[in-house]
Amino acid sequence: MASAFGHAFAAIALGTSIPKTYRSTKFWILAVICSILPDADVISFSLGIPYDSFWGHRGFSHSLLAACIVGVLITIIFYRTSIFSKKGISLILFFTLATASHAVLDAMTTGGLGVAFFSPWDDTRHFFSWRPIQVSPIGIQNFFSKWGLRVILSELIYIFIPAAVYMVISYLINKKRK
Ligand SMILES: [Zn+2]
Repeated sequence: MASAFGHAFAAIALGTSIPKTYRSTKFWILAVICSILPDADVISFSLGIPYDSFWGHRGFSHSLLAACIVGVLITIIFYRTSIFSKKGISLILFFTLATASHAVLDAMTTGGLGVAFFSPWDDTRHFFSWRPIQVSPIGIQNFFSKWGLRVILSELIYIFIPAAVYMVISYLINKKRK
């Protein structure tokens, strides 16, 4: 995984492309939850589930199908009244994208196994050929170490700065539209 901060910041940046009227506190909280939710699968380690299996870390939970399911469920649960409107469709797409952004960033990290993007049809683990993001340690104690520092530095360059640039561009486009 990239760190939870990196995943959350990427989702927040993506969220700035959603119309302002949809962006409530609830929206931002859900965006952050979606971006880190796939890593709930780390529980598989303590359950003795093998890393490279379907339910293992970066397995089905990190797939594009799982991202679609999360996008639909989050919108149904939290925006039930607007599900069949333009807002509902935008939110489904956004929460799907926020969840899928997690897998995309993981596939750019330096360690662990790849991401099962196409599970359950194909459980092959994939990495992108460009992997500049230092893999983040699992567990908070390990994060406050030299390793953690390397993670912060690589995420600053490859996640935070590009995401901040994206936010500025998004802001300028929204401003021009008005
Ligand atoms: Zn992950």
